[in-house]
This record gives sequence, C-alpha cells and structure tokens, in this order.
Amino acid sequence: MIETDITIIGAGPVGLFTVFEAGLLKLKCHLIDSLAQPGGQLTEIYPKKPIYDIPGYASVNAGELIDNLLEQIAPFKPGYTLGESAVSIDKEENGDFIVTTNKGTEHRSKAVIIAGGLGVFQPRKPPVANLEKFEDNGVEYIIKEPNLYKDKDVVIAGGGDSALDWTIYLVENEIAKSVALVHRRASFRGHLDSVQKVMDLADAGKIDLITEAEVTDLYGNEKLEAIGISKNKEASVTRNTDHFVPLFGLKPTLGPIADWGLEIEKNAIKVNTIDYSTNREGIFAVGDVNQYPGKLKLILCGFHEATLAVQSVFSLVYPEKKNVLKYTTVNGVSGF
Ligand SMILES: Cc1cc2nc3c(=O)[nH]c(=O)nc-3n(C[C@H](O)[C@H](O)[C@H](O)COP(=O)(O)OP(=O)(O)OC[C@H]3O[C@@H](n4cnc5c(N)ncnc54)[C@H](O)[C@@H]3O)c2cc1C
Repeated sequence: MIETDITIIGAGPVGLFTVFEAGLLKLKCHLIDSLAQPGGQLTEIYPKKPIYDIPGYASVNAGELIDNLLEQIAPFKPGYTLGESAVSIDKEENGDFIVTTNKGTEHRSKAVIIAGGLGVFQPRKPPVANLEKFEDNGVEYIIKEPNLYKDKDVVIAGGGDSALDWTIYLVENEIAKSVALVHRRASFRGHLDSVQKVMDLADAGKIDLITEAEVTDLYGNEKLEAIGISKNKEASVTRNTDHFVPLFGLKPTLGPIADWGLEIEKNAIKVNTIDYSTNREGIFAVGDVNQYPGKLKLILCGFHEATLAVQSVFSLVYPEKKNVLKYTTVNGVSGF
C-alpha cells in the first residue's frame, strides 16, 4: 500500500504542477499514469511542437516544458506509479481514499486530485487473432521497461515515431538480440531523420526491415514463441520471436473516471470553481478533465485550478492549521 497526502490521477502538465503547489503547503503527492512516462498529451501527442502561451516563455517545446516541470517538482520527491490506470476510488470509514490500479497497486491518501486530461490513452490494437491471450506474455503496446527486451528477439510493428524511435533505441543501445520492424506501407510517417536512421540500420544489417507487410498470426503456449508475417497479402511466413510490440498509437477515452460516482458533463467532471472540488468530498478535478462555465482547455488554466485545489486539500489534511499564503520569493522552495 502506497501512502501519501494526495493521490494525483494523471501525470500530464497539470498533474505535475499540482505536486509543486501541494509541496509548497508541505503536502506529499503520488502520481498515477496509464502511460509509461509523465507528460500527458505533451509527451504523447506533440513533444516537439513549440507552445507560445506559457507565461514567461516566448516559446517552449512541449517536451522541454515537461522536463522543466519534472525538475521543478523534484525537491518535493513525488512518487510515481506509471504504466497503470486508476480503476477505482473507495472511501474508508476514517475518510481515507484508496485508489486502486488495473494492476492492483493500492494508494491510500486523504485527498484525490484527478488530472486525467482526456482520459486513459488506450492502445490501438491490430486485428490479430489471439492478441489478448499473449498480452504481457510477449505482446506489449507500450515499452515501459526497455530491459524487458534484453537479449530477446523483438518484432516491432508500426510506421510512426514510436515504432521508429524504439527500433533505433533497442538496436543502438545493444539491448535486444534481434529487432525486426514490420510496417504496412513502404514509407513511414515519422521524423525524417528517424526514418533515415532506420534505413541505415537496415542497410547495415542491424535490423530486419519488413515493409508492405502485416503481422497476421501469433503462436505459442503460455508465452509468445512465433508470429506469422504476410507480405503483400501473400501467405504468412513464420518468424520466431519473444516479443511482438505493435506501436499503432494511443487513443484517449474517459474510461474508468466515468464510473466513480462523479457528476459528468460534456464528457468531463463537473466542478465547483471555488476550489475545483467535485460532488464527492475530498475528490478534486483539474485540467482538461474538468468542466465549468467558461472552461478553456489550456495548460495555464489547469495550473491555476491546481493551485486553488491544493488550498482546500490543506484544510482537509490539517483541519486545525491555518494556511497563510507565502511567496516563493520570500520563502524559497524547501522540499522534503
Ligand atoms: C496538438 C495539441 C496542441 C496543443 N497546444 C496547446 C497550446 O499551445 N497551449 C495550451 O495551453 N494547450 C495546448 N494544448 C492542450 C493541452 O495539451 C492540454 O490542455 C493539456 O495537456 C492538459 O493537461 P492535463 O494535465 O490536464 O491533461 P493531459 O495532458 O491529457 O494528461 C492527462 C494524463 O492523465 C492520464 N490518465 C487519465 N485517466 C487516467 C487513469 N484513470 N489512470 C491513470 N492515468 C490516467 C493520461 O494517461 C494522461 O497522461 C494542445 C493540445 C494538442 C493535442
């Protein structure tokens, strides 16, 4: 059981900044995210795009903003449960919340702040028979821990940046024993320099590049042992492999958030703008996941919402203490 003051569901920019504002009030946080890395939409959808409406930055790349937020919250030593989705929130008799993930990890806290953005990112799965049977037994949709592939035969499928970047990473870092990249088309959608690098690795015989082809079959008993690959819709050829990693992108769905007894409006959680509290006492919602009159789905609005929400959490955690606003210019940032 992980114990903290605030469990934050969602490690996008708003969830991350919540850690900072909570830390200033000496409240400890633990973040849960279904993705393997923090950053939410910024890391997942547009890491290389410049953002122009973050105060104090004329322009900042989305990935850089997330790196800066991680640096900013580091003094407050937040905990992370990554690659797991929060599926339930239960309230105990003493008022504590227990947030449980799809992998059974439990988090106990006095308050919960939902910063779930557009919801859980679900992998787009290829239409291959038996796929579910081998999930976590040779089939993975996100690469959470590259060392899982140490000295293994790996087949990656996809034509975007994820597929290209992970192919390069597993080869250049000499992690996998062998890497094959399978793609439906002859051309790729990713960054030109990544495409070039993959072509160079293929020319050097360091990867098997199999284009205009699809993975059609999976074979094995308990674990994945081989796959069938069909090129140009011809009969499939069997290839032994330990892992098949289809990286076809992720799509967001509100997912389990819709089942937590929270008032939902326009596919988002209705909140009170005094402190962004929901209809369940002790549960708050900030960032893209909430809804109120005049709501704008912008990062800076989420930062403001998080700042006000933690003020109310402070009163919940320390009902006997009075919170006085202290400027960071006066008090600095003293972490835990
Ligand atoms: C292409 C593009 C360009 C944009 N440009 C701008 C811009 O210039 N300026 C601007 O201000 N905004 C911009 N936005 C909007 C901005 O990205 C969002 O407002 C911002 O990401 C919201 O942050 P968030 O932390 O609320 O949510 P998100 O970034 O969506 O993060 C939410 C996180 O919660 C996780 N999550 C959800 N449910 C669960 C669950 N049950 N369990 C575990 N984890 C969960 C998700 O995996 C995700 O990582 C842009 C958006 C896009 C798509």
